[in-house]
Amino acid sequence: MYDIVVIGAGPAGMTAALYAARADREVLLLEKESFGGQVVFSPKIENYPGYMQMSGNEFADKLIEQVLAQGVTVELDEAVEIRDGKVKTVVCASGTEYECGAVIIATGSRHRMLGLEDEEKFVGNGISFCAVCDGAFYADQTVAVIGGGNSALQEAVLLSDICKKVTIVQNLDFLTGEGKLVSLLAKRENVDYIYGATVEKFLGSDELTGLILDQKGTKIRLDVDGVFVAIGQVPVNDAFAPVADIDTRGYILSGEDCLTKTPGVFVAGDCRTKNIRQITTACGDGATAAMTACRYLNDQ
Ligand SMILES: Cc1cc2nc3c(=O)[nH]c(=O)nc-3n(C[C@H](O)[C@H](O)[C@H](O)COP(=O)(O)OP(=O)(O)OC[C@H]3O[C@@H](n4cnc5c(N)ncnc54)[C@H](O)[C@@H]3O)c2cc1C
Repeated sequence: MYDIVVIGAGPAGMTAALYAARADREVLLLEKESFGGQVVFSPKIENYPGYMQMSGNEFADKLIEQVLAQGVTVELDEAVEIRDGKVKTVVCASGTEYECGAVIIATGSRHRMLGLEDEEKFVGNGISFCAVCDGAFYADQTVAVIGGGNSALQEAVLLSDICKKVTIVQNLDFLTGEGKLVSLLAKRENVDYIYGATVEKFLGSDELTGLILDQKGTKIRLDVDGVFVAIGQVPVNDAFAPVADIDTRGYILSGEDCLTKTPGVFVAGDCRTKNIRQITTACGDGATAAMTACRYLNDQ
């Protein structure tokens, strides 16, 4: 039996595991995909205090190294249920069940899809969500980036170093990302923009060959080798609805105290209702949730 099970090894979950282990608790950290969470999709992090610049992968490596050095047990498995009781049980997709005194949910969010026909089929066959991971497959080719926020512009910057041409397709008439990224892209001659347009259809049979866009009623055909979708993130918390209230957008309802409706079940990071979703705020939540969970265990 563990003192605390942390679900999700992004910045929130890894910070929670670190704090709980340093408070002398037996901690299990569960991760369903890859250690680091969303940061692994970030080519450059320039707003984490103390570091002028680092890649998301570098940050993720440092976090997991630190967590393991503190004696946290780590398992690659997906938590699919939390059973409440004096002793709580975290049930995993593999069928393994872990008993513990407290649970911290730090499941973050995943890429939002466009929700179009054939989208799932083309993921990995022309549709990607990560220029760091897949950009090299499109060296000297033409790609489209869907979205106009920070993530989309970061993807476009990286792709414009590698690809022959990058077209940014934005549904609004302007970009919403940081001014610094907008001006950086404005200097790149291989980047162009289609504003006020939405993707209507993916073209191709096995491999994606292009897009049909709808620009205020006018149909545009855009032939591309690849599409990078960067239209934001969505949380995936339905499995935890019995122990935590969830808002209409899928986020777990909680405040800065990281509490849920169930005593002994806490929530940290991007998966909870909050205004700013960043690495620093996720780490802050991780520390709060861990310390509050330790206090809860002391009181039992
Ligand atoms: C492209 C991109 C660039 C970014 N750049 C920056 C930046 O420069 N600076 C900055 O501050 N922020 C940046 N962010 C935002 C930042 O990455 C997030 O705010 C931060 O990662 C949130 O941390 P988290 O731990 O709450 O969630 P996540 O990072 O989403 O981690 C959650 C983890 O939980 C795992 N998980 C989910 N469900 C389960 C389950 N049921 N069982 C087990 N594991 C599960 C997921 O696989 C994931 O690893 C960027 C985000 C993106 C997408």
